[in-house]
Amino acid sequence: MRRMTAPIARASADRAAPTLEGKIVTAEHARFDEARRAWNLTIDQRPSAVVFPESAGDVAAAVLFAREHGQRIAAQGTGHNAGPLGSLEDTILLKTERMRGVHIDPEARVARVEAGAVWLEVVEAAAKHGLAALAGTSPDVGVVGYTLGGGLSFLGRKHGLCANAVRAIEVVTADGRLVRCDRETEPDLFWALRGGGGSFGVVTAIELELFAIEHAYAGVLFYPIERGSEVLHAWRELTHDDLVPDELTTLGRFLRLPPIPEIPEELRGKSFVIVEACHVGDRAQADELLAPLRALGPVKDTIQTVPIPALGRLHMDPDHPVPGFGDGLMIAELPEAAVDAFVEVAGEAAPFPLATVELRHLGGALARPMPSHGALSSIDARYSLFAGGMVPAPELEAAVRAQVHAVKAALAPWAASQMYLNFADTQREAASFWPEHAYRRLRRIKAAVDPGDLIRANHPIPAAR
Ligand SMILES: Cc1cc2nc3c(=O)[nH]c(=O)nc-3n(C[C@H](O)[C@H](O)[C@H](O)COP(=O)(O)OP(=O)(O)OC[C@H]3O[C@@H](n4cnc5c(N)ncnc54)[C@H](O)[C@@H]3O)c2cc1C
Repeated sequence: MRRMTAPIARASADRAAPTLEGKIVTAEHARFDEARRAWNLTIDQRPSAVVFPESAGDVAAAVLFAREHGQRIAAQGTGHNAGPLGSLEDTILLKTERMRGVHIDPEARVARVEAGAVWLEVVEAAAKHGLAALAGTSPDVGVVGYTLGGGLSFLGRKHGLCANAVRAIEVVTADGRLVRCDRETEPDLFWALRGGGGSFGVVTAIELELFAIEHAYAGVLFYPIERGSEVLHAWRELTHDDLVPDELTTLGRFLRLPPIPEIPEELRGKSFVIVEACHVGDRAQADELLAPLRALGPVKDTIQTVPIPALGRLHMDPDHPVPGFGDGLMIAELPEAAVDAFVEVAGEAAPFPLATVELRHLGGALARPMPSHGALSSIDARYSLFAGGMVPAPELEAAVRAQVHAVKAALAPWAASQMYLNFADTQREAASFWPEHAYRRLRRIKAAVDPGDLIRANHPIPAAR
C-alpha cells in the first residue's frame, strides 16, 4: 500500500465523506493538541489527523479515508495503553470516545457495548439488573481495548478472562466492511479478536456475557509499609498452592498514596503494604482464608459485603488522565526468595519510591484453556507483576522508568515464558504474548484480513508471509 509522509491537510479533511464532517481534526485545527492527547499524559501522540467517529458508518468512512490518503489507522478508546504505539507518523488516530452506547439484555445476560464505553458505564448499567461484567480494576479503562487484550478482573479466577466471555464482535475490517463476527460467522476473525489485540480491524461494538452476581465480600487490609516482608510472606502462604478456591482473588501490593484531598485523611500521603481481596461466595469461607492476614493486625480493614460497582474503587486507580509510567511482567512461580526480592526492590527500603508495585494472584479459571476460547485461551502464569509511578515533571521520568525496570529485573528469575498484552506498557516481542501455535494462527489471520497492514495496534501482529 502507498503511504504518504505529509500530515493530512485541513482541506483534505474538509473534502472527506459527508458523514465525517466536523469529526476530523488536523494539525491545522486549534484543538489538535487536545484531540491527540492520551489518558497517559506523558505520551506525546503525533498522528497525521484525529477522527472522532460517532457510529459504525463513521468508522467505515474513516478507514476508507485513511486508505485513500495512504495512511494507516490506529483505534484508541482511552489511551490507557498508548505507550507502545510508538510513532504515529502516517497514521490517523481514530478515537472512539463518542461511541458510548451500552445496552443490557437482562434475559440473555448480555451487554452490547459500543467501542468508546469505559468499564464504569457497563458495570453500573449491568448492576441495575443484578448482573456483573468481568471488568478490570479501573473504572475508566476502555472495555474494548481491555477485552481485546484478555481482561483480568477481580472475578477472573472464578469466571476466566473477559475475552472468553465475548459473545459477538462488530468490527470494520481494513477494506471498510462492517462485519458482525461470532462463533458461526467469520470464526477465525472472532477467535483472533478474543485476546489477540487490536491488529485485525476497528471494533465498533462488543457483546459480553454477564454473570448473576450482585455483591462481593471485598476490600483492603492496610499495614505500615515496614511490615512488607511478614505481610507478603503471609499472603504468599495463602496463594502459592492450588488449594485456594476460585471464589477468592487477592493481590499483594506496595502503595504510596499522594497527599491529595480525594484520599481520606488517615491514608493521605502515607505508604502501605496492602492486601486487596475480593470473594464471591460464602462469607465464612473468605473469613477463614483471610484469618492469618487479619491476625497480623492491619491498621485498617475495609473488607465487607459491597455491591459489585464498588469493586471499581477497590484498587484505588486514578480515574482521570495522569502522567505516569508503568510496566508489567508475568510470574511463573512465587517461592519465598521471590517475595524477598520483591520486598527488597519495592518495599520500605526501595531505592526509588514508586506509587504502586503489585503482585496479582491468577490461576483458577484464568489458567484453564477451553476449545471454545479465543486467541488467549488461558494465562500460563500464577501471578502478574505491575509497577508504576507518577511523572509529575518530565525530569522525573528517567528515575521512574529506571525503578520500574529495576523491579522487573529483580523478579525476572521467576518470570513466566508468556507475557500479558494488557500489562505491557512498553514495546515487546509480539510472539511473547501467546503460545506458539496461537501466534502462528494470529499471523495467518492478519495476512488474510489486513495484508496491507492498514490497522495499527499498540502491540502489532505481523502478517504471515
Ligand atoms: C490504571 C490502569 C488499570 C488497569 N487495570 C487493568 C486490569 O484490572 N486488568 C487488565 O486486564 N488490564 C488492566 N489495565 C490494562 C488495560 O487493560 C490496557 O491498558 C488496555 O489496553 C486499555 O484499553 P483502552 O481501550 O482503555 O486503552 P487504549 O490505549 O485506548 O487501547 C489500547 C489498544 O487497544 C486496541 N483498541 C482499543 N480500542 C479499539 C477498537 N475500537 N478497535 C480495535 N482496537 C482497539 C488498540 O490496539 C489500542 O492501541 C489497566 C491499565 C491502567 C492504566
